[in-house]
Amino acid sequence: MKGIRKITPYVPGEQPNYSDMIKLNTNENPYPPSPKVAESLKKFDVERLKRYSSIDNLSLKKALSAKHNLSPDHFLIGNGSDEVLAFCFLAFFNSSDPILFPDITYGFYKVWADLFQIPFKEVPLNNNFELVEEDYTQLNGGIIIANPNAPTGLFKPLEEIEHLLKDNQDVIVIIDEAYIDFAGQSAISLLDRYPNLIIIRTFSKANSLAGLRVGYAIGNPAYIQIAENIKSSFNPYSVDMLAEDLATAAVEDEAYYAGITKDICETRDWFSKNIEKSGFSSLVSKTNFVLITHPDLIIKELYLYLEAHNIFVRYFPKIKRLNNYLRISIGTQKEMEAVNQLLNRFVKETKNS
Ligand SMILES: *Cc1c(COP(=O)(O)O)cnc(C)c1O
Repeated sequence: MKGIRKITPYVPGEQPNYSDMIKLNTNENPYPPSPKVAESLKKFDVERLKRYSSIDNLSLKKALSAKHNLSPDHFLIGNGSDEVLAFCFLAFFNSSDPILFPDITYGFYKVWADLFQIPFKEVPLNNNFELVEEDYTQLNGGIIIANPNAPTGLFKPLEEIEHLLKDNQDVIVIIDEAYIDFAGQSAISLLDRYPNLIIIRTFSKANSLAGLRVGYAIGNPAYIQIAENIKSSFNPYSVDMLAEDLATAAVEDEAYYAGITKDICETRDWFSKNIEKSGFSSLVSKTNFVLITHPDLIIKELYLYLEAHNIFVRYFPKIKRLNNYLRISIGTQKEMEAVNQLLNRFVKETKNS
């Protein structure tokens, strides 16, 4: 057949749905959204749905504006940060020079670049899975990195992000901060000095709202307007009314989210330390997941063993360097104790066989 497009789609982690499973494969939050979100849902007047949703998402932008201390025109809202990324790729990556991103990072960057036929170059992380900023001084048509990175969990300090921005002032540098709440230091403070900076955030991870589909970009208003134009040319109502209401309620309950984020970080650090007793090691994570390995195990077997016990984690068979690693999202303390026990048991059973 003529005229048909062949593409390689993004493959997300599975979404199985058993009542007794422990689901640690897509970095979702194990805790529920803020009670304020539940309240806002209950109060929602269903009759409002007969109208189209807001085009400018001003109520959510105002809440974000108060939270980040920036005027509302610094924000672009979308149906999940994946969609926001798509708008930004279309708006900012139009050079014939390749955009740069790490060889091991969020899988969607390559998918969007392919889909939109944007030339790209994957820049290898070093042997410790670290981003080497000197590798980003080469000619490019833009840069996108996740900080902290996924699936490594590693965080680049702000000074190094600043070098990257300084060295690439004639292109847009996108910093995807999907996991920043678990790490601290956001690049937002650099916005004043570097108009080429665009930051991407999501409600899916730290805000426990993966199913709601809301994400946003933060940037210089002139550039944000260009991305808004892309959104208006594609799906002006991409954020539905209910999603805007509930996300706004989430932004307004910082105290609740600070609490669950702290719990997740404590569980993460507990887990990383305790798996060492059975010989595992992990990269230093500033996210809600850990990338683990073991010198004496075939990790794929462990992956299947966990799955057989209804514990779902992420294995990346297509990424060569991650062949012997598993990415495990951080669940509740109780869930992680169960996983730790099972890891321990697997090591013992493998030794005895
Ligand atoms: C999860 C994730 C996203 C996607 O978030 P959504 O808002 O759910 O689309 C984007 N970037 C990174 C690095 C992620 O890990």
